[in-house]
Amino acid sequence: MRGSSPRMTAKNLCEADYIPKMRPQDILVPVAAGLCCKPGDFYIDPVRPVERAVITHGHSDHARSGHGAVLATQETLDMMRLRYGDNFAGRTQAIAYGEELKLGDVTIKFHPAGHVLGSAQIAVSCKDICIVASGDYKDAPDPTCAPFEVVPCDVFITEATFGLPVFRHGDAADEIRKLLASVALFPERAHLVGAYSLGKAQRVIALLRLAGYDAPIYLHGAMEKITRYYESRGVALGELRLVKGIKKADLAGTITLAPPSATSDVWTRRFPDPVTAFASGWMRVRARARQRGVELPLVISDHADWNGLTATIDATGAGEIWVTHGQEDALVHWCTAKGLAARPLDLVGYGDEDESDAPPVGEDAGA
Ligand SMILES: [Zn+2]
Repeated sequence: MRGSSPRMTAKNLCEADYIPKMRPQDILVPVAAGLCCKPGDFYIDPVRPVERAVITHGHSDHARSGHGAVLATQETLDMMRLRYGDNFAGRTQAIAYGEELKLGDVTIKFHPAGHVLGSAQIAVSCKDICIVASGDYKDAPDPTCAPFEVVPCDVFITEATFGLPVFRHGDAADEIRKLLASVALFPERAHLVGAYSLGKAQRVIALLRLAGYDAPIYLHGAMEKITRYYESRGVALGELRLVKGIKKADLAGTITLAPPSATSDVWTRRFPDPVTAFASGWMRVRARARQRGVELPLVISDHADWNGLTATIDATGAGEIWVTHGQEDALVHWCTAKGLAARPLDLVGYGDEDESDAPPVGEDAGA
């Protein structure tokens, strides 16, 4: 625990002489299966089956099936059950935000990450060192999940999905206004919005409601289960209808949410002259929108942008930053220039949440 001072006895005075001071890398270390906590005997977001997994959130690149035991928030466990079925893990245990749990020689505590419903940062404390593994996070407001919480720590592990100064997401409400302006401009056309099924789709719907849009919103069948789950957790989304069975002419002037992959296949033929939109932080890159045939790019991201990443690093007060999954180099450089110890973690297997719509690392590095 941070700040605790164990009583000095002859025994631990003697140990202090011989046992070197614990270093952060003795608590968490990147290995092929993921981020390994040896003193706690668990892995955070392992990409291979392990005996004990502690999971930050429900996206498929972080939450995989086949572990012996899974510790996560109730929402993350429920999302894993929806995706993988009842036997997704040998055992499960739910932990609430703010709850502390002793695992082996470490204490862990979950804090909201603001990324999707149930997403958490995991603080791992051992002796007087606290490391926070933030998973995916955003500091921007999101009506569908608990807001990101700054957790003071010694070592902060940050994602770097949008770890380049070119990425500034702006206000998501402005993007929603763009979508509604297009719907008003083209009442005879359908609007098809590509969005990740877990998190982004529900956030777009909630933002449309906040903007005063109260018409029914249509869903691709693949989004139904997770969207209904959000509603069951108290996220109000207004009237939702499945597209299936609706006549083509009746979809004129409507908005439909669909997985990004569906917006470019034959499924779109059931819509009258569809306007294709895509809600993603990658839509800041024009070439990327063009390449996907997106007519209406909406820059709405569930990851922190450059300003969010750097402001968060500052706010944690951490002296050491470990950077993972994304565009690590610029962020490591920024930290080093500020006098912080920083290094890339080189974890592989992340950044393919849901329909693998995030480009491979580095693809947009020059954009
Ligand atoms: Zn994620």
